[in-house]
Amino acid sequence: MNGYAGTILRVNLTTGEIRKEPYDPQVARDFLGGRGLGIYTLYNEVPAGTDPLGPENKLIASTGPLSGLLVPGAGKMDWTTKSPLTGGYASASVGGHLTAELKYAGYDSIILEGASDKPVYLFIEDDKIELRDAADLWGKGSMTTEEILKKRLGEDFQIATIGPGGENLVKYACITTDYGRQAGRGGVGAVMGSKKLKAIAVRGTQTIPVADPDRFWDLSHEMYRACKESEALEAWQRYGTTIVTSWCDEVGALPTRNFQQGSFEEGPNLYGQVMRDKIVITDKGCFGCPSPCGKYSYSKKHGVFVEGPEYETIALCGSNAGLSDIEDVAYVNYLMDELGIDTISAGNAIAFAMECFEKGILGPEDTDGLDLRFGNAEAVFAMSERIARREGLGDLLAEGVKAAAERLGQGSADFAIQVKGMEQSGYETHSATSMLLAYMTADVGAHHNRAWAITYDLEVGRDRVAPDKVAKVIELQHIRPLFDALGACRLQWVELSIDVTAYAPMMAAITGIERSWQDLLKISERIWNLTRLYWFREAEAFGRAWDYPPPRFYKEPATGGPTEGQLTTLDAAMQLLDMYYEQRGWDEEGRPTAAKVAELGLSELVG
Ligand code: SF4
Repeated sequence: MNGYAGTILRVNLTTGEIRKEPYDPQVARDFLGGRGLGIYTLYNEVPAGTDPLGPENKLIASTGPLSGLLVPGAGKMDWTTKSPLTGGYASASVGGHLTAELKYAGYDSIILEGASDKPVYLFIEDDKIELRDAADLWGKGSMTTEEILKKRLGEDFQIATIGPGGENLVKYACITTDYGRQAGRGGVGAVMGSKKLKAIAVRGTQTIPVADPDRFWDLSHEMYRACKESEALEAWQRYGTTIVTSWCDEVGALPTRNFQQGSFEEGPNLYGQVMRDKIVITDKGCFGCPSPCGKYSYSKKHGVFVEGPEYETIALCGSNAGLSDIEDVAYVNYLMDELGIDTISAGNAIAFAMECFEKGILGPEDTDGLDLRFGNAEAVFAMSERIARREGLGDLLAEGVKAAAERLGQGSADFAIQVKGMEQSGYETHSATSMLLAYMTADVGAHHNRAWAITYDLEVGRDRVAPDKVAKVIELQHIRPLFDALGACRLQWVELSIDVTAYAPMMAAITGIERSWQDLLKISERIWNLTRLYWFREAEAFGRAWDYPPPRFYKEPATGGPTEGQLTTLDAAMQLLDMYYEQRGWDEEGRPTAAKVAELGLSELVG
């Protein structure tokens, strides 16, 4: 199997049994790898109705056919599971060096099943695989654990860890690697914690077979040259994702005080340029990356080193909580990374609680005296700890904003900014219909990485409701998640504008299977539809109602900034959904039709 290690590792945490299984070449053809292999395995192996935090759930870590090879950013790994946050499909992508190392050790994927009765970590060194005692690591922070294991095992080991958030089953706990890269969304860290698996340490020394090394070498050089010659490279490398902070603030897309508006009066203090001058020490990249977007920083004010903050953290833990000092945001970033909780969901949860506090839904008696008003950095620090340790109000917020609003009532569901139970990432969508639709229909919940459509909104008219705006979302939902199946980074295409169709000949040179770019997109569509069918199987009464936008965006106009007074009516949102379902070949509830299922070759799989 060119491009693949050819072996899947199955680890049963209940029995301690470790098995190596051959990777079915037909599955690799039909689903590529990464998130494709993840949903194929989840759909087939995890019974309907499984408790996400029970031993029957599985956590599937998968590389892709590009991972570990000389392809720009080929260091991406996907973690798929049934989400404890949403009760549906979860897939979290992470960069770094773990992916390449796993393939060098001889494995394309690890399927973790069962649950240990005591803390363990998984040790992998080529053929030597063991579950080792982790009692001394339990309770320790994510990055601290990585440091300890590297000292113990050697710097060559690549390590994934959970922090106290994962141990305490915070519904949006993450998995950390590379001292600050996160598989962040959907609670994959809580599933790892439910299995009492503290860490995975991997070292490998083998090679990955390539079908046509000469052709691959030429195409690889060409791709790297295109990255190097891109006019966008210098600014991207200098600022990484923080390059968009100022743009979002200016156009009214920067979530501010729990998405009440899209522009922050103190936003300039958080811009990428300020951050670069004030706290960034150096750049940091994933395996094989020619354009490292990671910014490694030091906050003198708080005395901590941290990778970041990147844009999403600045948006959700900065402006959205009313914080205006980049050093405070860097410290929140450090705390949440070490505690092992997703900065996007946790930032949302804290901002939601702040709004509840300001509206009198929560009082000092609920916060143990904490003054939980927007802009109070000390309160954000304290709440980060309390969420991860499930203390006081933190225990409620650890369930996510949807569950918290259901418990608190008093109209708070209107400003719980979530879709399908997942908190929305960093784009304010009172008036950005493509981006709003992208959030409504993303297959994990309100996450931007499936379709970053906000620039299209600005280009063609942000509040238009028209078929082209829907088509753009679907186009992006096929291209962007394809990278999560290939095991590579999409940002060289998104930010440096390299030719995305070049990935087709690259895949052919590696795997020996000639497929066009359209063929690859069709596989991505197959994966997308299977994730949708998974939702229908797992979530009660799943359908259109699950695709509704957060009420704030259709009930309350934006309160300030360039979009002040604007909103997207519920009627407009429903029109978008009608067009979306029709263009996708789904029925009026958003279920893939039998014809679409057959067209994508999924009939046998889904029955
Ligand atoms: Fe990793 Fe950023 Fe490079 Fe992508 S652009 S491979 S996320 S460092």
